[in-house]
Amino acid sequence: MAIRIADNLYRLPTLGPFINSYALLNTDSSITLVDCGLAGSSKRLIKDLARIGKHPSDVVNIVLTHAHDDHVGAASQMIKECEVQNVMMHEEDSHLPPTGKTPPIDDSRLSGKIMKILPERSYEPFSITNKLKDNEIIDTAGGLQVIHTPGHTAGHISLLHFESETLITGDSIFNMTSRMTWALSGFCVNYKQSQESAEKFSDLDFKNACFTHGPEIKNLGKSKIRQFLSKKGLN
Ligand SMILES: [Zn+2]
Repeated sequence: MAIRIADNLYRLPTLGPFINSYALLNTDSSITLVDCGLAGSSKRLIKDLARIGKHPSDVVNIVLTHAHDDHVGAASQMIKECEVQNVMMHEEDSHLPPTGKTPPIDDSRLSGKIMKILPERSYEPFSITNKLKDNEIIDTAGGLQVIHTPGHTAGHISLLHFESETLITGDSIFNMTSRMTWALSGFCVNYKQSQESAEKFSDLDFKNACFTHGPEIKNLGKSKIRQFLSKKGLN
């Protein structure tokens, strides 16, 4: 089910509300897809795109928030099945997709120590065509600004969609259990840096907060994020 956030922005859940992609609609009917979910999610994504009247060939851009397999797992499938011209990721994670590898883990805490003894997660490799930089504006659906929020991974990005006044936090902040949380430390490259870089959200103008993990907060997104940050001693 595609969930409408604004006229040109939809949330596409690929595993309940737990893993989300986003579709930005351009005036020429092309689509920019943000994140691709776990391997095998392409069927679900293509079905949900059909529900909003879009064909796989409409997907011209893929923007990836970071190189974890629950965000890039189905990227190679989507690249093959759609006519994707540009595959974008921040320059500091962009070396990973061609290897099919995920970034290192912060093992300074218990969850990281546990994650480290589990088998490394991988995904079908693919190439990045556009290496993104902090503050760069992607020319889609009225402008999508790259906000570099390192720490979850070195090249983790959040995205600010101007027209709908929406921030997509990526994995900087989760909203899975009816409340905001940080990502588990075991999934981060640098847990402390991941929290500190989220402080950037206080300076951005938005009203809707969208998450790659969990449902959106409409209208009150900025104030809820500010409350969360100040509760955590940031902001
Ligand atoms: Zn992640």
